[in-house]
Amino acid sequence: MPKLPHLRFLWLAAILGMVLLGFGQFGSPTAGPVPYSQFQQWLDAGRVARVTVTGDSIRGELKDKLPDGTTGFVTERVPTNIAAELSRHGVEYSGAPAVGAFSQVLAWILPPLLFVGIWLIAGRLMSGGRGGGMLGGGLLSVGRSKAKLVAETDVKTTFDDVAGVDEAKEELREIVDFLKRPGEFTRLGAHVPRGVLLVGPPGTGKTLLARAVAGEAGVPFFATNGAEFVEMFVGVGAARVRDLFEQARKVAPCIIFIDELDALGRARHASPVSGQDEKEQTLNQLLAEMDGFDRSVAVVILAATNRPEILDPALLRAGRFDRQVLVDRPEKQGRIDILKVHTVTLTLAADVDLAEIAAMTPGFTGADLANLANEAAVHATRRKADAIGMEDFVAAVERIVAGLEKRSRVMIPRERRIVAYHEMGHALVAMATPGADPVTKVSIIPRGIGALGYTLSRPTEDRFLMGRSELEAKLTVLMGGRAAEILIGPDISTGAADDIARATDIARGMVLRYGMDDKLGPVAWDTEEGHFLDQPGAFWRPRRYSEQTAREIDQVVRTILEHGLERALGVLRANRAKLDEGAERLLAQETLTAEQIPKPD
Ligand code: ADP
Ligand code: MG
Ligand code: ZN
Repeated sequence: MPKLPHLRFLWLAAILGMVLLGFGQFGSPTAGPVPYSQFQQWLDAGRVARVTVTGDSIRGELKDKLPDGTTGFVTERVPTNIAAELSRHGVEYSGAPAVGAFSQVLAWILPPLLFVGIWLIAGRLMSGGRGGGMLGGGLLSVGRSKAKLVAETDVKTTFDDVAGVDEAKEELREIVDFLKRPGEFTRLGAHVPRGVLLVGPPGTGKTLLARAVAGEAGVPFFATNGAEFVEMFVGVGAARVRDLFEQARKVAPCIIFIDELDALGRARHASPVSGQDEKEQTLNQLLAEMDGFDRSVAVVILAATNRPEILDPALLRAGRFDRQVLVDRPEKQGRIDILKVHTVTLTLAADVDLAEIAAMTPGFTGADLANLANEAAVHATRRKADAIGMEDFVAAVERIVAGLEKRSRVMIPRERRIVAYHEMGHALVAMATPGADPVTKVSIIPRGIGALGYTLSRPTEDRFLMGRSELEAKLTVLMGGRAAEILIGPDISTGAADDIARATDIARGMVLRYGMDDKLGPVAWDTEEGHFLDQPGAFWRPRRYSEQTAREIDQVVRTILEHGLERALGVLRANRAKLDEGAERLLAQETLTAEQIPKPD
């Protein structure tokens, strides 16, 4: 594409030219139109110096000044043989295209101009609109986001509207402080996160939190959705991203919020299907914008996703979304607080006990609870009650649970018991295994999409080296869940699927990549997946070892895993009473901190 400023100049020249042509002559000050008879008189008197004759008018100049000081005149042409007459009076004359010249010229110039215009628009669409807006962005601003680019300046949401996610709020408070007083932060060279990723299941209040940050800080809020950037034409999405950041920089301090980041930030090369160019360009633009920021510009980018695992790793690198805030399903106390938020405007009967309702609703998200309060109100209205009673809430819970069960999000009591033992198994094994990450929290509140409960270890720092004993410790802890299930019997469950997959990955790595097995030796039987020439489509790689070795690998991997399970079983057998005690406590409290977990021997 040619440089646009250049073209812009051409446009202006063309328009100016047309205007001037339209007025035809210029130079002498012209008196208003005069009657033809007046012209004839002047002609006869020999006062006319020169004229320009067109199809239907005569424009001329007098030898002497008129009373108002002008010498020029225009008159409507009367069909006579004007040329002969002019010659007779010795007037200098010339012809000109008929007036209406303007429209003629237009008819002549406009089609090519239109053509050029269409070509420009098409060019922008195809090429990614690398040029900024034409004519100041007004005329041909195809790339400008249709997103609500107008920042919301008066966000009313505050942290008080978000309950039960105290840890997330705590982390975001720092962002609020920064946005309120950016100067103070940068004065000492403090490092403020550029991008914060809110991670959690749908309905837990991620969008709400982002708005609350804007509301608390009192800064403009640019709300967009990842899907809005994904367009048909290659380059349009990228242009939108650029525009968005340009706008944001102008009004900083402010917040850019990208909801459902995964729609835009899926790992590149994730799909073998071509036609990913547009997404890739858009994602690259986003990365470039985040990198290109001056650290002192107070623009914070918040994003939300419920599928962090599919995000392109490049998004999570330092200087981008390097801070992740977990927005999880609320615990019991959290649910009480959320219910409080959503019942303040309702008329509640005296028998309503929010704690009791919270106890009935493990696994509910903030959105579920908001829905619950509303359903209860509807139920009460329908039975024409004066206030919303406990019975309305119970009915509403039943209704919602039935819906959630279909989506398998609420556990029946027997499942809860299995999950409690499973998680307590992980926790006890972790505490008893030297070299394992210390446990900080155990919970049976469903988390994320797949997991029914979770055991949190201290956030895993970036490790450069891991010893064999550490990997073995990890394996043992991962097997702790299944080990607990085996001990309480009589059955084992699908709940350990993810643990087993992760353990298998570790074991395979030990054997295939790190040369940690004595029998198979220090050989890299396999290299890191997917990085071969960084090719999309390099899905299938030839195996680089014999049938014989393949069989040995399988056996060794299996042995490593079995040993892990045995170690875990050993720990739990030795601490059987503590396992029971811990599981019971977990069932009652849903979440235990490290101090509340019984200490294994
Ligand atoms: P997400 O973006 O995580 O999917 P939203 O922020 O859109 O969830 O939440 C939807 C609605 O559910 C909110 O508008 C609010 O009414 C309610 N809600 C969700 N989480 C909370 C919470 N933690 N506290 C209070 N209300 C909540
Ligand atoms: Mg949302
Ligand atoms: Zn597990």
